[in-house]
Amino acid sequence: MPATHANAHAITGMIKRLSRPDYDRWASQVRHTGGCRQPIHLRGKVDHYDQATGRLLHRYTTRSEPDGVLRVPCKTRRATRCPACAETYRADTYHLIRAGLIGGKGVPETVTSHPTLFVTLTAPSFGTVHSRRAHGGKVHPCRSRRNATTCPHGRVMSCTERHSKDDPRLGESLCPDCYDYTGSVLFNALAPLLWKRFADSLRRHLAKLGGLLLKELRHHLTLSFAKVAEYQRRGVVHFHAVIRLDGPGGPTAPPPTWATTDTLTQAIHHAAQAVSATAPAHADQPERTLRWGTQLDIRPITLNGDLTEQAVAGYIAKYATKAAECVGTLDRRINPLDDLTAYNLRDHARRLITTCLQLDTQPELADLRLADWAHMLGFRGHFSTRSRHYSTTLGELRADREHHARDTDITTGRLPLFDEDTVLVISEWEYAGKGHSSGDYLLAAAITGGCL
Ligand SMILES: [Zn+2]
Ligand SMILES: [Zn+2]
Ligand SMILES: [Zn+2]
Repeated sequence: MPATHANAHAITGMIKRLSRPDYDRWASQVRHTGGCRQPIHLRGKVDHYDQATGRLLHRYTTRSEPDGVLRVPCKTRRATRCPACAETYRADTYHLIRAGLIGGKGVPETVTSHPTLFVTLTAPSFGTVHSRRAHGGKVHPCRSRRNATTCPHGRVMSCTERHSKDDPRLGESLCPDCYDYTGSVLFNALAPLLWKRFADSLRRHLAKLGGLLLKELRHHLTLSFAKVAEYQRRGVVHFHAVIRLDGPGGPTAPPPTWATTDTLTQAIHHAAQAVSATAPAHADQPERTLRWGTQLDIRPITLNGDLTEQAVAGYIAKYATKAAECVGTLDRRINPLDDLTAYNLRDHARRLITTCLQLDTQPELADLRLADWAHMLGFRGHFSTRSRHYSTTLGELRADREHHARDTDITTGRLPLFDEDTVLVISEWEYAGKGHSSGDYLLAAAITGGCL
């Protein structure tokens, strides 16, 4: 449909919505979603019964709502899908990461005295890529080599350009035929296992340093962490993690005196080098062992030093709302029958996706479900995870907010105020759709001040 037709359609929709008698209620629903770009539509009812008599005290039903539905936020963490909900997710993540560093949200302030490090685990190299090298405000040539070699495909392995920050070539290989796309995809697919093995190895090594058996460790020390995955422009994931040592049971108790920042640093160095994950042999390819890259960054987090708790919390929260979009891949699952040429993908992203789809046909690699995760370039892990004792949870932060929202509902007359112990609440909800029509979309943007 040409843009002008789409606009005319949207404007007609807007006028229809504005002239409906229930417009105010619709607008109030939209405001309650906080400007969600793709609200979930729920159909249902909430009944309040008197527990003693069984009498129906109050019924809320969506039947009297605009379009017969209640609109609730989609709660995605992905900024590309819904900026408003992703912002909520980012802010929540920020607060819970920060609480794990300086206390608050149920974490005592004494946590600041626990050994805590900010660690970046990287992926190894899978070939030479265009990169931006800047030091002290000066941008250096990408890869200038006086005696640059020529690869077997006749390409000179040199690039003298000083790439700008938004140069789309950043992260693309100098020679796509030399680049190890299989290695890149398998690394992403095995990265969650590699992380798990890293954490296990860390615990084992800490136990050894403390003269304990692994099974005794938890009675003395808890390894608490919060981590986030970040896609590099070249399409592989890195992990950034806050790693903290607590006493048994979490941050309320101090770790044993032998568990110092030095002990933790030593254990991290050991674990990062010790662990590996193996991809089975397939077709004419031998078995492959994948490890972390040699670049391991370990930095102390201090309240007034180089790396503050605000900077770390901000960093982790920012990446928690992103996925692989910076590599130029698609924001949804890819069907192996899709015509990838229709999506206008950059060559590097297209090759990574194609590699996922090809490897998925190998029975030995079926467990990696690479076709399902082709849009993520093979990575199927969680983007942002915390160990049980790190700090509060997103769920608790949300429950706090929803409790507040429920109070608002009661005061605005949607729910009566009852003594919770004497009332039985029965709710029935069903999914009734998602998103806005084009007219509603424009109106919602106007109401919530968002640029949808
Ligand atoms: Zn949303
Ligand atoms: Zn370059
Ligand atoms: Zn080559």
